[in-house]
Amino acid sequence: MKGKVLTLDQLLGLDKYVIDEQGHIKVNQALCASCELKPCLTVCPAGVYSLVEDRIIANHENCLECGTCIIACNVGGRTCIEWKNPRGSYGISFRYG
Ligand code: SF4
Ligand code: SF4
Repeated sequence: MKGKVLTLDQLLGLDKYVIDEQGHIKVNQALCASCELKPCLTVCPAGVYSLVEDRIIANHENCLECGTCIIACNVGGRTCIEWKNPRGSYGISFRYG
C-alpha cells in the first residue's frame, strides 16, 4: 500500500502558517517623513510598500520575508521598519527579525 502523497505546501511546511490579520510590518511615519529617497518603494521585490498621501503603506500580505527593506531603510543610522515573522517557526525564517 502506498503512503500518503503530500502536496508541495505540506512538504515545505507552508500549510501550517497563518498570516496575521493585523499586519506584520509597521513603519514609523515620523521617520519616513524625514526620509527623502524612500528606497522601500523601489527595493521591495514584492511591491509591499506604497506611498499614499505622503504616508508609507505596507501591504504586508505580499511579503516574501527576504529582508531587503530592512537593509535599505536607513534613516539616520536607524531603520524605521518594525518587522515580525508572520509565520511562526514555519516558512522562510527572516534573517534580521
Ligand atoms: S525607507 Fe524606511 S524610513 Fe524611508 S520611507 Fe521607506 S520605510 Fe520610511
Ligand atoms: S521583507 Fe522583502 S518582500 Fe517583505 S516587505 Fe521587506 S523587501 Fe518586501
